[in-house]
Amino acid sequence: MARKSPQPKATSSEVLECVQQNCPSCGKSMWNEYNNLRRVRTLKGVIQLLLKIRRCQNRSCERYKIKYRPEQEGSWALPQQEFGLDVIALVGALRYQEYRSIPQIHQHLRNQGVEVSERSVTHLLERYDELVALWLSDHLRLKAIAKKQGRLILAIDGMQPDVGHEVLWVIRDCLSGEIILAKTLLSSRNEDLAALLSQVKNTLDVEIDGVISDGQQSIRKAVEVALLGIAHGLCHFHYLKEAAKVIYEADRHARKGTKKARSGHMPD
Ligand SMILES: [Zn+2]
Repeated sequence: MARKSPQPKATSSEVLECVQQNCPSCGKSMWNEYNNLRRVRTLKGVIQLLLKIRRCQNRSCERYKIKYRPEQEGSWALPQQEFGLDVIALVGALRYQEYRSIPQIHQHLRNQGVEVSERSVTHLLERYDELVALWLSDHLRLKAIAKKQGRLILAIDGMQPDVGHEVLWVIRDCLSGEIILAKTLLSSRNEDLAALLSQVKNTLDVEIDGVISDGQQSIRKAVEVALLGIAHGLCHFHYLKEAAKVIYEADRHARKGTKKARSGHMPD
């Protein structure tokens, strides 16, 4: 569909790197061959994402030259979507938990600073409906994809648009980029989340090589319960946010050190 209005300017930018940097199939290092730019309209503004895409260089590997995208990309937006997943989650919450009409949702988004037309709100609600119906409508296709790949690397995100809203949980596969299951739960109770993960594991019935999440306690517990016995050390968490924090701190200290070194000895 042709774009009718120009894309809004980005208000901030993020660089997304792959957590998994070795090929999930042959184990050799995947190279960052090229980058993609993607602009996403979120509740926090228009974010420019720089995506560092990696590919396996091993000619004898089944994943030779198959691209692997940063795992976090899917927590920002669904494939092909210009609006963020947080916006879609909010649209769904306003419609089904607060029974708001499309014009009311439109107004709410505009008040939050999201540049969106009323027609796009209808479109976003359709995407939300598709997302939560996906598991029931599409699990045979997902099963075929999983079987062909022989493994999954799961990513789990929980979106709570506002205090009091249900949490929209989204489970994705980082190898195919497919959304596997999305469901709203009343709480972030790890038992409920574990039930979702068990459903995915039992239905798709392939090896789960890893789980990527932001390391929330409820997700960690749920994975321990649902995926126990599968992983034997293969199931690992990557604390994306915490890792980012550590890098930031290290960087800050390094900068401080450099400043100190430049200015000579400074009394504390
Ligand atoms: Zn490989």
